[in-house]
Amino acid sequence: MPNRYLIANWKMNLPPEGVDAYLDGVAAVRDDRARRVIAPPFPYLTGVARGLSKRGADIATGAQNCSEQEKGAFTGEVSTAMLHDCGARFTLIGHSERRTLFAENDALVARKLSAAIGSRLVPVLCVGEDLRVREAGHVQRHVADQLKTAVSDALDDAPEIVVAYEPIWAIGTGRNATGAMVADVVGSIRESLGRFWPSRFVKDAAVLYGGSVTPDNIADLVAEGDIDGFLVGGASLDSVKFNAILNRM
Ligand code: PEP
Repeated sequence: MPNRYLIANWKMNLPPEGVDAYLDGVAAVRDDRARRVIAPPFPYLTGVARGLSKRGADIATGAQNCSEQEKGAFTGEVSTAMLHDCGARFTLIGHSERRTLFAENDALVARKLSAAIGSRLVPVLCVGEDLRVREAGHVQRHVADQLKTAVSDALDDAPEIVVAYEPIWAIGTGRNATGAMVADVVGSIRESLGRFWPSRFVKDAAVLYGGSVTPDNIADLVAEGDIDGFLVGGASLDSVKFNAILNRM
């Protein structure tokens, strides 16, 4: 399998076509140009993981979030070990909706990253700037800070890490970054990985783009973005669009 990914983030939604029809739709495509991951809401993880396996699909399941705590009196939280038990093999960490709507800061993101690695989940660390940071010309510094503060000893044991560059102003807004803009930030992400992270990740970490990706706007990102795949929200809820994105990668 290549070190390329297509990740579906359903957020707090279900596919309008229904979960079974969706799984039939994505499982019908046998295409190994990218590793596919479906991240449904927590209660659907087991069903999606089993449904994909029953259909013989080489598609993994991921969580959208995890607790940094191992166990105990943390009402409403779900541990990384529980996610693994439910079939998740990946987890998003530090998605911008978690950072902005649920006040997750870089220190918490770092603890979640360690917890995920400890439970053998592949972390998909989301980084990216808001419009204010972009307009002030501080994108590279902002993303470098996010990567620097995510570092912990756990990274030494991580077989695999995925980084998703998701400019906040592009998420769910219909505005997406151009390939050239993305390539610029991806270059600085790789530079920061080299400065702050175990050096193997400069080459080994897959760096994805996310932000209003659809089958109709990925050509420029594929050609110019210098990325290893996509993290897709809205368009990933439709199996036909998800398959079309894969087909154009
Ligand atoms: C996301 O949720 O990570 C995302 C990129 O959403 P959307 O594709 O809807 O912008």
